[in-house]
Amino acid sequence: MKVNAYGVVKKGQSFEKFQIDLEDLKADEVQVKVKYCGICHSDIHLLDDDWAEEYPVIPGHEIVGEITEIGSNVKDFKKGMIVGVGWQCGSCGKCKSCMKGKENLCGDMVSTCVNKKGGFAELVNIDENFVFEIPDEMDLAKVGPLFCGGATVYNPLEKYGIKARDNVAIIGIGGLGHLAIQFAKALGTNVTAISSSVSKKEDSFKLGASNFISTDEELEKYNRTFDFILSTASADLDWNKYLKALAPEGKLCFVGVPSSGEIKIDYFELMIPEREIVAGSIASPTQIKKLIKLAAEKNVYPIVEMIKPDQLDEAFEKLRNNQVRYRFIVDFVS
Ligand code: NAP
Ligand code: ZN
Repeated sequence: MKVNAYGVVKKGQSFEKFQIDLEDLKADEVQVKVKYCGICHSDIHLLDDDWAEEYPVIPGHEIVGEITEIGSNVKDFKKGMIVGVGWQCGSCGKCKSCMKGKENLCGDMVSTCVNKKGGFAELVNIDENFVFEIPDEMDLAKVGPLFCGGATVYNPLEKYGIKARDNVAIIGIGGLGHLAIQFAKALGTNVTAISSSVSKKEDSFKLGASNFISTDEELEKYNRTFDFILSTASADLDWNKYLKALAPEGKLCFVGVPSSGEIKIDYFELMIPEREIVAGSIASPTQIKKLIKLAAEKNVYPIVEMIKPDQLDEAFEKLRNNQVRYRFIVDFVS
């Protein structure tokens, strides 16, 4: 079947609308007609061929849409249901990680838009284990980013046992970071926002932070303060400065991808206070279901800028230049 899609046919080129072949629906898959799709910073890496991508690239992995077809083995979904899809759309189902419900750590994970046509296509076929029903009361136009950005920041907060009254700092107040402030607040922690953009201070407080630090500031007065620092920044920063701001046994957790792909730290700042460097990679389906419930209860949503597909080039340019407040959503409905 031919379907419309928006994508880039070669590295460095603009978005174009063209038709692609959609593979036949498999027995375990549902077909989703895309209504809305968020734009994540990881989509930039796909356009830039950073992650061994086949062209044309059709990005998009913060999908909200309606089920239009179901495969013959599908049990939990029906035509007409409104669902969300994030970064992952498949796993082997047999490895140790899959068996313990950590499908996001499967070595054979299938990604929604890596060497696959993502949510900027009219229809996508997704394994039913990676499709999530959206509660009726949720705002469909805004919920998409919870399936990747939200999932990615919720996972480490849960996995590393972050609890009420912990001192948590979030570095990088972009798409992921502004959701991280809200989830950390929803868990009852004391949240500090750390940002290279002083213009984000007011918003950080409104989202639930009780303190704001500029990345230019010296951090001596925060030495040994934070129980958990979550970096969502897409840049290389002076990580030793943040390591020192961790309390003994505190954790510096990376979910953002530093531009060099490397992190350099002072061994003694790590070893003597028994600090830990950890990371998070999207979230498991079980965690995604939990965080959607929590978001519905605590009213956790991204702040969004809605765009039409013909504004994709402009939107990606703004995202590259840190000019988004705080997530673009492509509206494929109106
Ligand atoms: P985003 O909206 O572009 O936010 C990134 C933020 O990083 C910016 O808003 C900015 O925050 C900060 N930043 C950017 N350049 C900086 C610089 N030169 N110096 C200091 N700070 C800088 O991106 P996103 O969609 O939230 O994604 C963030 C990162 O997470 C990306 O690297 C993305 O690929 C990665 N990601 C990882 C996973 C995973 O599973 N681990 C999942 C999704 C995304 P301030 O203005 O506040 O400084
Ligand atoms: Zn993403």
